[in-house]
Amino acid sequence: MDGRGLAARIREELKVEIAGFGPVRLATVLVGDDPASHVYIRLKHKAADDVGIHAIDKRLPGDTSEEELLVLIEELNGDDSVDGILVQTPLPPQIDEARVMRMIEPVKDVDGLHPFNAGQLFFGQETLVGATPVGVMRLLAEYKIPIAGARAVVVGRSLIVGRPLAMLLLHANATITICHSRTEDLARHTLDADILVAAVGYLGLITADMVKTGAAVIDVGMNRTEEGLFGDVDPGVADVAGFLTPVPGGVGPMTIACLLENALKAARYRSGALVFPLI
Ligand code: NDP
Repeated sequence: MDGRGLAARIREELKVEIAGFGPVRLATVLVGDDPASHVYIRLKHKAADDVGIHAIDKRLPGDTSEEELLVLIEELNGDDSVDGILVQTPLPPQIDEARVMRMIEPVKDVDGLHPFNAGQLFFGQETLVGATPVGVMRLLAEYKIPIAGARAVVVGRSLIVGRPLAMLLLHANATITICHSRTEDLARHTLDADILVAAVGYLGLITADMVKTGAAVIDVGMNRTEEGLFGDVDPGVADVAGFLTPVPGGVGPMTIACLLENALKAARYRSGALVFPLI
């Protein structure tokens, strides 16, 4: 499944839409010097620039206190020229991520992590939903993978990927199983999956003997090694799966494209072109 190709098409469409809509501004907040986070922020800024989104780069040192970060979030909330706010995770240990996410104005919350947006998703109602889960759903739609009635197994239950994706699959009428680090006999669950999503961060966790023949396998994992970037899915799975997303070139580019879409959506909400459900 070619995430890179689909993401490029989405970005081309976005470029046209943004040119017609007017300026869109996305603020990213990076705290500390986690090397992977720096790479993601750089990629997001470049992609934003390419489609005509103005990205504002806020960086704070690793010893920033929670209060200092919250002051910056308040500033961005109150800045009428800012449409979307993205706080790159992980945050340093002295900062409570949940508290920070609660402070982001829901209409600017392009990662869909504010409890209001997470709640709307739980209810199956329109809102901002995180870019990675949306990107996975777009890939499934693009390849016409049947979801209604399918058995979907999501390995990983994070707030940013596993849980919202499970919710989207449920709303699309899949029968879902969510697995995590305490799941016993993971293969028993994964072997049942028509749609299998690996969102763990464990190199090669999913091997061919854990996958049903013909299944659609979505590899969200990103594991950086000296040899390069690899997913959670062992290459041998390609012999068994009906569909498989590569790493790199699968979910990663879709995440970035859908983040940019969310920035435009936030700008539309804020302009009144779309009705934000909280208003
Ligand atoms: P988290 O670390 O927040 O969550 C990982 C999840 O995996 C947890 O729910 C954890 O369980 C579960 N887990 C850990 N070990 C096992 C195991 N042995 N068997 C089954 N489940 C296990 O990670 P994220 O959700 O943020 O990210 C997951 C991966 O996806 C990472 O590699 C990350 O880099 C990548 N990622 C990729 C994106 C993309 O665009 N391609 C975007 C976002 C993330 P428990 O809850 O019990 O601890």
